[in-house]
Amino acid sequence: MEAIFLSNSRTLRRAGAQVRIIHRRSRPLEGFDPDLVDQLVQTTRELITDVHLNTSVEAVEKHSEHFIVSAASEEGEHRFETDLVVHGAGRVPDIDDLDLEAADVTHEKRGVTVNDFLQSVSNPGVYAAGDAAASSGLPLTPVASAEGHVVAKQHAERQSPQAELRWCSNRRLYRAASCFSGRARR
Ligand SMILES: Cc1cc2nc3c(=O)[nH]c(=O)nc-3n(C[C@H](O)[C@H](O)[C@H](O)COP(=O)(O)OP(=O)(O)OC[C@H]3O[C@@H](n4cnc5c(N)ncnc54)[C@H](O)[C@@H]3O)c2cc1C
Repeated sequence: MEAIFLSNSRTLRRAGAQVRIIHRRSRPLEGFDPDLVDQLVQTTRELITDVHLNTSVEAVEKHSEHFIVSAASEEGEHRFETDLVVHGAGRVPDIDDLDLEAADVTHEKRGVTVNDFLQSVSNPGVYAAGDAAASSGLPLTPVASAEGHVVAKQHAERQSPQAELRWCSNRRLYRAASCFSGRARR
């Protein structure tokens, strides 16, 4: 489950909609601080009582007036009837039509395969930042900004930003954000 999906679920609930969250693992928002996520799950449960963790969606069927969502957990099979189904299981970068193979740019599900300098591992003339890069950063705006800054700085100053990159490439968003503001202070 993505942060965007969780925040939208809470907004919809506050707007009066009946919301049910189904997540296949024991904790959502992988990559974020687990203690903070646990607190967020607790407050979400106070708002949205129907939070199903460790539950996998198996099928979604459209009927004339509603949808049936079939899911499975250790307790067994579940069927939920609903007016609307929202997919919140993540995004993939929009790079499929770029014909990256023609430029020998290796890529994977999370984007262009890059080294610690956000440089393509297969074509050193190519860099990727933000959602299009399979870096260790989360696909969020502050991370994309920080990574774009790092790539631009390498080209503008032609100096090794290795120390900064190590600092930025932590998986945690708050580290990336502090990396960005830390450099802005220089
Ligand atoms: C619904 C939604 C809500 C979000 N909410 C948050 C949030 O609250 N907080 C947060 O931190 N992050 C949020 N995000 C994630 C955030 O939007 C992205 O992580 C961030 O925009 C990534 O920046 P980027 O520059 O890498 O890519 P993008 O912002 O996607 O920019 C890529 C640009 O490249 C252009 N482009 C694509 N293909 C080509 C091409 N072939 N040629 C030329 N241009 C091209 C696109 O049109 C686009 O303008 C949200 C994402 C979504 C989808």
